[in-house]
Amino acid sequence: MTGTDYETKVKDIINDFTGKFGCRALPAHLLGDNEFYYYPAIETVVYVYKFCPRFKQDRDFMNSVKMHNPKVKLNHFMWALLHEVGHHMTEDTFDEEEKDRINKKRWRVMKTQAIHPYYRLPDEWAATEWAVTYANVHAEEVKNLWEKICALTNEYKTSRAIA
Ligand SMILES: [Zn+2]
Repeated sequence: MTGTDYETKVKDIINDFTGKFGCRALPAHLLGDNEFYYYPAIETVVYVYKFCPRFKQDRDFMNSVKMHNPKVKLNHFMWALLHEVGHHMTEDTFDEEEKDRINKKRWRVMKTQAIHPYYRLPDEWAATEWAVTYANVHAEEVKNLWEKICALTNEYKTSRAIA
């Protein structure tokens, strides 16, 4: 399996999932520099192949998930993916005026690099709340999704070891 085949297959698996919610998913490197991100205008979630928290912001995000009392244990990749789908699913709960207000606050909070206020911004909170609620109710489904990605990753690694 080539790297491109692997990337395409992972993308298909993730899109089978995100497609149920009416948004598509792309590897982040195909659409700018953001890692995990939701682009509302094109209803697209971007993701990176980052299966464990690498940076302080990743660990901060994982800690913020705990504030929502998840009943399932998922890794960084799955929570980040669900959080971005959560943005897609909850963005309509905020009108334009509220979004403006939240974004102004976001810039102020980001300057301070304080993580708790960031993930308490109403849209961030709503996205993670959606992610945790979904995972609590559909634990099997989200675990299966992760297992499919792992199986493919192992297959890819094995094929490279042989080649
Ligand atoms: Zn977010």
